Amino acid sequence: MNTVILSASNEDIAFAASLINKGEVVGIPTETVYGLAADAMNEEAVKKIFKAKGRPADNPLIVHVSRFEMVYDIALEIPPLAHKLAERFWPGPLTMIMPKSDKIPDVTSGGLDTVGIRYPSHPVAQALINISDKPLAAPSANLSGSPSPTNCARVYEDMRGRIPAIIDGGECDVGVESTVISFEDGGIRILRPGKISVEDFLTVTDKVYVDKGVLAQLDADAVAKSPGMKYKHYSPKANIILIDSEVDAFKNYVSQNKCENTYCLLFDESEAVAGVGFLTYGVTSEEQAHYLFERLREFDEMGAKTVYARCPSKDGVGLAVYNRILRSAGFNLIKL
Ligand code: AMP
Ligand code: MG
Repeated sequence: MNTVILSASNEDIAFAASLINKGEVVGIPTETVYGLAADAMNEEAVKKIFKAKGRPADNPLIVHVSRFEMVYDIALEIPPLAHKLAERFWPGPLTMIMPKSDKIPDVTSGGLDTVGIRYPSHPVAQALINISDKPLAAPSANLSGSPSPTNCARVYEDMRGRIPAIIDGGECDVGVESTVISFEDGGIRILRPGKISVEDFLTVTDKVYVDKGVLAQLDADAVAKSPGMKYKHYSPKANIILIDSEVDAFKNYVSQNKCENTYCLLFDESEAVAGVGFLTYGVTSEEQAHYLFERLREFDEMGAKTVYARCPSKDGVGLAVYNRILRSAGFNLIKL
């Protein structure tokens, strides 16, 4: 299959919408990461997403809408708090899990009786939903297990020959996937952290639980509340080792443990270790979220075997950065 790159012009978005309406899969920009979109209510189309990604069938997809009213068709029940959260954070990087209506096929929800729903703020994603007039199921546009793509070139790298088209909408703003929440006990539980943070939710409800799976590896026999959490994730080919320490201890550790093709992932270049190559991913949590996945892919291009990474702060969107980098490191965390 030939994969064409489309622009974000009205004409190209209309063409992408015609592909969606024919049951095809299109790579699309969102404010978080690029997605692989198909008609969420078309079982055959959704199956093509799983095939293109090589995604396990029990890992559910998020359904994207372009106005709140679309939720009534997708969810069987809408918790009162969902209205409040939508008012505050939609459109934006928040996915809310609700009981699913019969219109959403089981393939879309990975066999669960719930569905994750999000209203993205990216104008191209909104336009495509509006013009195709379909809610779009869209997971991240990477091959299953790889870091999520935050620009069109990375989607092309993974999806070339697997999908008919990608819309190039430039670089994604946030850089990590949406915050995924479920409703519990009159409040919410964060299943996957993202840009909408614990601190943000606390402005709307005082019951904010952070699921155990956010910060730690789930036991092999534990039932994952968010099935995606049980799979290998965000993994580059390089072996990432996350080092939780002050900068001097970090530098010492790296100089004593460096071998061939060892690199560092630093906040900024002042932390460089003599004789060891590095990339930086920024000083603020926002910068780190924006650059993390792209840097992981760059290390692979550089032929990195081992990458020692500075450990991000867990505040705000930092919790999402920590959650992703910990998984890309296969939970290999060294505290000094
Ligand atoms: P991705 O599509 O790559 O952004 O991954 C979607 C994430 O949302 C996965 O980690 C899923 O496990 C999670 N998710 C989607 N729908 C549900 C649901 N109904 N219940 C629990 N988690 C969900
Ligand atoms: Mg993903």
